[in-house]
Amino acid sequence: MRVPTSESNGVTPNEVNSEPTCYCGLQSPILIAKTRKNAGRRFHGCAKFDGPGCCNFFMWIDSKIPDHARDMIVDLLERNQALGESSQSRRDKVNVSLLLTEMKTQKAKNGRLKKELA
Ligand SMILES: [Zn+2]
Repeated sequence: MRVPTSESNGVTPNEVNSEPTCYCGLQSPILIAKTRKNAGRRFHGCAKFDGPGCCNFFMWIDSKIPDHARDMIVDLLERNQALGESSQSRRDKVNVSLLLTEMKTQKAKNGRLKKELA
């Protein structure tokens, strides 16, 4: 449910489909804020956002996210990142040849079981 707010920047959700253009004259993509203050909040930014030649065009799509919701998003993002990092380091430690040996043993077992069933 969307609640109209007094904090309006002239863009209502219905108008989001028509993409605005930034000062470079390029179609402005929908970006998602990653800053702590506005985590998860969508905005239209310069097509070269954060890159060389960025015109600093900036327009919020979502109205301000309530602080508690934003805190949750930040918390989830951080946890997600931590999980990604730990699974990455686990992957690095996995011994591939050990896995292959394990697979061969399982296959041999399977073959034996099939013979027993036949
Ligand atoms: Zn631009």
